[in-house]
Amino acid sequence: MMGKLDYLKEELSELSRIGRRRFLRWIEDLKGVEAIIEGREVVLFCSNDYLGISRSERFKQVVLELLERWGAGAPSSRSIAGSFLIHKELEEELSEFKGTERALLFSTGYMANLGILTSLVGEGDLILSDQFNHASIIDGARLSRAEIWVYRHRDMNHLEELLKRSGHRRRLIVSDGVFSMEGDMAPLKDLKELSDRYGAILVIDDAHGTGVLGKEGRGIAEHFGLLGQIDVQMGTLGKALGIMGAFVAGEAVLVEYLLNRARTFMYTTSLPPLIVGMVKEALRIMKEEPWRREKLWENTRLFREGAKRLGFKVLGETPIVPIVIGDDHLTMRLSAALFELGIYVQGIRPPTVPPGTSRLRFSISALHTKEHIEKALFALKEAGQRLGLI
Ligand code: PMP
Repeated sequence: MMGKLDYLKEELSELSRIGRRRFLRWIEDLKGVEAIIEGREVVLFCSNDYLGISRSERFKQVVLELLERWGAGAPSSRSIAGSFLIHKELEEELSEFKGTERALLFSTGYMANLGILTSLVGEGDLILSDQFNHASIIDGARLSRAEIWVYRHRDMNHLEELLKRSGHRRRLIVSDGVFSMEGDMAPLKDLKELSDRYGAILVIDDAHGTGVLGKEGRGIAEHFGLLGQIDVQMGTLGKALGIMGAFVAGEAVLVEYLLNRARTFMYTTSLPPLIVGMVKEALRIMKEEPWRREKLWENTRLFREGAKRLGFKVLGETPIVPIVIGDDHLTMRLSAALFELGIYVQGIRPPTVPPGTSRLRFSISALHTKEHIEKALFALKEAGQRLGLI
């Protein structure tokens, strides 16, 4: 007899056949960026811990204090019994950091994007979305019931054409700040100018810019000299800040509205105070240890230039360094060959990126040493030549 779930088996086999099956890789030990994965010593090149803050010794000092004061969890939603003073403190610090009136914490960036898009627009409205926006933006847009028009990646002429053509009640432009699979940046000045000229709300997902871009790490708005001038800014706490969670920063009325309307804020357990306190410490570490951002960019330059010199197709301009291979199977073979040579970087395939553009996505960290970078470049050369890619 056919089992009810047999179709899942068939679909998984099909994924294996076309080279798109995903398997989890178990990290058995981790010191800085040096990991043991499946018994092999490798250097991690695909974590979002850009500043290496998650590995800071300083957390040891704050954990017990936090535990004693607040306990281990906060099993309630924010609007019932899950809002502690420490949430308020972090929200105030984050709004100060982003130069806005207020900020609101969400449990993850995925949930923050869903919350923003489903609350701010609805049926009869229009979302204008960059072609390469993150999955959580795509899902939030779909859930919102607004119409969705996708503009070509970073193409401001196309965006303006669409704005001119639209006669919707409300319009909202949404873009990644740093594109997570491309490693390039949104043209923020033009986006701001167009959004103001056409009266469209501007939403920027600064997941990969927060802590990374700008002299003080305040993100893409600081980088472009537009601090506090973006209508809605989302940032995450699980990448450069190394812990987990996310926030939305903007005018007080925005935050007040979201906490009344964003279902991904209202109907989920709040971030435990232990996590919130760790993020507060992470923010302090980021501010007090600027060497981390300096080292991150120095490493980024070293790796980007080296990979380009080898003859690979390297995209972007940030610590996200995608190397495009194209074919799914070949991408995974390169990833496996690098793993054998002690470098762990996961292959990125559809649906995360468009078909025919599979890639390895290197993420650079402040914790990489010059030797780590040289090792990665050497492995890329070896494996790339072996597979006939360079
Ligand atoms: N936006 C972007 C651009 C991202 O890269 C990510 C994380 N991959 C998210 C949102 C989601 O953030 P989180 O992991 O906190 O859910």
